[in-house]
Amino acid sequence: MKIVPEYFGCLVFDDRVMKAKLSAAVYQSLKRTIDRGARPEPGVADAVANAMRDWAVAHGATHYTHWFQPLTGITAEKHDSFISPSPDGGVIMEFSGKELIKGEPDASSFPSGGLRATFEARGYTAWDPTSYAFIKGKTLCIPTAFCSYGGEALDKKTPLLRSMEALNKQALRILKLFGNEKVKAVRSSVGPEQEYFLIDKALYDRRRDLIYCGRTLFGAKPPKGQQLDDHYFGVIKPQVAAYMEELNEELWKLGILAKTEHNEVAPAQHELAPIYTTTNVATDHNQLTMEIMQKVAARHGLVCLLHEKPFDGVNGSGKHNNWSISTDSGVNLLSPGETPYENAQFLLFLCAVIKAVDDYQDLLRIAVATAGNDHRLGANEAPPAVVSIFLGEELQAVLDAIETDMPYEGAEKTQLKLGVNVLPRFNRDTTDRNRTSPFAFTGNKFEFRMLGSSNSIACANIMLNSAVAESLRVYADRLEQAEDFPAALHKMIRKTIQDHKRILFNGNGYDNAWIKEATEVRGLSNYPTTPDCMPHLLDEKNVKMLTGLGVYKEAELRSRRDIMLENYCKAVTIEAATMADMAKTEIAPAIEAYSLDIAKTAAAQKALDPSAPCAYERDLVEKLSGYVAEISQRLQELEQVLEETQAIEDPVACSAAIRDKVLGAMSRLRRVCDLAEADTAKKYWPFPTYGDLLFSVR
Ligand code: ADP
Ligand code: MG
Repeated sequence: MKIVPEYFGCLVFDDRVMKAKLSAAVYQSLKRTIDRGARPEPGVADAVANAMRDWAVAHGATHYTHWFQPLTGITAEKHDSFISPSPDGGVIMEFSGKELIKGEPDASSFPSGGLRATFEARGYTAWDPTSYAFIKGKTLCIPTAFCSYGGEALDKKTPLLRSMEALNKQALRILKLFGNEKVKAVRSSVGPEQEYFLIDKALYDRRRDLIYCGRTLFGAKPPKGQQLDDHYFGVIKPQVAAYMEELNEELWKLGILAKTEHNEVAPAQHELAPIYTTTNVATDHNQLTMEIMQKVAARHGLVCLLHEKPFDGVNGSGKHNNWSISTDSGVNLLSPGETPYENAQFLLFLCAVIKAVDDYQDLLRIAVATAGNDHRLGANEAPPAVVSIFLGEELQAVLDAIETDMPYEGAEKTQLKLGVNVLPRFNRDTTDRNRTSPFAFTGNKFEFRMLGSSNSIACANIMLNSAVAESLRVYADRLEQAEDFPAALHKMIRKTIQDHKRILFNGNGYDNAWIKEATEVRGLSNYPTTPDCMPHLLDEKNVKMLTGLGVYKEAELRSRRDIMLENYCKAVTIEAATMADMAKTEIAPAIEAYSLDIAKTAAAQKALDPSAPCAYERDLVEKLSGYVAEISQRLQELEQVLEETQAIEDPVACSAAIRDKVLGAMSRLRRVCDLAEADTAKKYWPFPTYGDLLFSVR
């Protein structure tokens, strides 16, 4: 049996392989491209392509693909084989630099929000050398960006790379002011904690809501849910353990640093966290992880549910985005330093984040907005839709002292002077306790907790990188002009705290009183649903910031808003149609069948004894017919609002109408069906119940 270090990354064309397979000159040139974002030099691509092909073919690959992340939220690939006919009637395996660098998928069916129509019919994919190529099955996968011929981004990777570049540029300006001339690059890193459910495949196959929508649309509460909290960190069951073991192996082969696994709060819910890495790589890895989680589950007779809210009344699944920024020499800029100067630098970066989150609360909310995640945010299992920052008592006390020029009440009372005092060491344990905050400082990183489990982490990090880059830009513009740098720095930090302290909140984010205070007293924005927040993507300040930094073009933002709203409308519409279908063709007939049998029983009793009261049967039949009558009425209502909303063309208006009309009609239909489920004998119920699904895995 091979041990992990022997097979870790064996399916990745990583640095080790490059060093071994490329000439020194080509390797150095490629490293420059990877480390500094320099354009690949001519000739290098051909040499790399050759080496990649030889390596991939030796590992059994027959095809290659440009692997990309269109706005559907999942990854896309079109496979081409390496074969090329040779004159003797055979084939050779070919792969050129040109094919490595650029691909032209026939991509007219990917969402473009009208972008492609106005430019070119086809898009192209472009190699991202900063994310390693890898082998999946028999295919060499090359991570790529996906653009239109006019250069408009049609994917999630392009703006992510642009946002990383913006952050790099502005952070370098700041570091220079602190005398850090040697730093060549600054990058953000991410460790995403991924939650998921595992359920039995045979049961899954009997529920059309799970098959079509990834979540249950009906289901009465089981007698046991998560009341006992006996699942959280509980012993991992054998079937799940076997799944996790194989999943880890698959991920490790792909160079993905899967590290932590445990049971989550809800029954059948689990979590997987990798060790953090550079943001664009972490994003690719998270997409791959989600794909492989589902594939491996199928081999174990399981289904992995990545939906944010598979079960009503049971915690949904999120994804915590642990984010930090560090230099190419490995210095974490969000870690308090050893010297007064480093501390001042840390405080400036901290302030940049505080300002960024306050100024662009709406963009962070937008970055996590999907129909699925709307079920979680603010539902007492996930942070509210109001964005705020948790810093912890110690750091809050430091900021308070700076803001008011009062002595800091640390170990000894001292007047905090930036550039003179060393900050106290923050105890990680005290910063990590608040689990209700959407955006929490956890010692040397921020944990953004609003993401849904199925979200690509790209959007959240695009917004985070960009907003922080913008704060740093504003700071650098001022500080570069300052005559007395330490004084200007102190003033700047103080002003940021004064101007943005409304976003700092160390209390319980699930508390209703907080939502009231946040919105009514502090003026923070609260967008409970996707149709509420998404139109704000085009607010002037947001367009100005994102286009100013070169992260998005205005046309791209416009198209993204439309696509996200269309995705929302489609998701809810499919759910509504699935509900209608299940209620009509499965639930109502089941209730009627049961009712008929009860009536037959009563008739049989009457036949034996005409004076038999049959009160139980009569009441039950009456109740059941009441349900069927109401189901029929609710169905009509749902079908009517569906028809009305389908007719609305404008995505903003359509999504609002769907939220206001369709969601309500869906929940009314569900309510009566769930009541009926509780009154119908189990053997008549047409699909597995919540109890069956949640406790099916052994
Ligand atoms: P938790 O208590 O939230 O589970 P962990 O220490 O396990 O905290 O970290 C969760 C995630 O945060 C992991 O993916 C981890 O690699 C990542 N992480 C740790 N340090 C950093 C950092 N400096 N920057 C980004 N992510 C980090
Ligand atoms: Mg965490």
